[in-house]
Amino acid sequence: AAAVAAVELVKVYGSGDAAVRALDGVSVTFARAAFTAIMGPSGSGKSTLMHCLAGLDRATSGAALLGGTDLTTQSERVLTKVRRDRIGFVFQSFNLLPQLTVAQNITLPLDLSGKKADRALFAQLVNQLGLADRLTHRPSELSGGQQQRVALARALVTRPEVLFADEPTGNLDSRSSAEVLGLLRESVSTLGQTVIMVTHDPVAAAYADRVVVLADGRIVRDLNRPSAAEIA
Ligand code: ADP
Ligand code: ADP
Repeated sequence: AAAVAAVELVKVYGSGDAAVRALDGVSVTFARAAFTAIMGPSGSGKSTLMHCLAGLDRATSGAALLGGTDLTTQSERVLTKVRRDRIGFVFQSFNLLPQLTVAQNITLPLDLSGKKADRALFAQLVNQLGLADRLTHRPSELSGGQQQRVALARALVTRPEVLFADEPTGNLDSRSSAEVLGLLRESVSTLGQTVIMVTHDPVAAAYADRVVVLADGRIVRDLNRPSAAEIA
């Protein structure tokens, strides 16, 4: 089965004259161990699609499938568990806890779900992400790129079925962006991670295996390994 799928997904915000059809019947499947970028102009429905597929928001109709589970019909309680146990998140704003060390930030999701850290995976992530000599630092002592690498380690340490990245390079300079995008790619090739990234940046999207383009709540293009010219 696909890792993630949308089936005729519709999301309407508000009602009556004020209703906004943010998703207008989106059907798409995301294969395991693939890196997909979702692109499109501002207001095209990228965040809404991600939020519905990640159980952060509930679709109006259609199905949002995570490994066969339809998230649109689950209770809030179940969705909270699904987000915690089965999904990894990376955001533009890093969302690290300032009072915790790097190591504590990385293992936080394991502590929250009562799981023990997989020491081998922790060590592999910390080394791959270049954080080995930063483990006792606080987030405020790190650069933006380093903070996003901590957020990435935190997202991967639970071995999530899918990693959602929402504009992960939005607050980074071009060098740190390239680093983080390269590491996202590497998580796909070395860990078999499924990655779905929302971005409006063609340079970021060029790191993906596939680029899905939204406009007005519909998929208007679906490109495999597109050239830079095709994405721009
Ligand atoms: P994108 O991520 O591509 O910028 P969004 O998914 O944020 O697009 O938004 C899609 C459409 O839905 C836009 O018209 C936006 O204004 C609208 N929208 C998004 N969130 C809300 C909300 N909470 N309430 C009402 N309208 C919303
Ligand atoms: P923005 O894209 O507006 O800068 P963020 O990237 O911080 O905002 O977050 C995007 C959305 O994801 C927010 O609307 C919020 O509801 C949700 N979100 C942010 N942080 C978390 C988190 N740690 N866990 C779950 N959901 C989050």
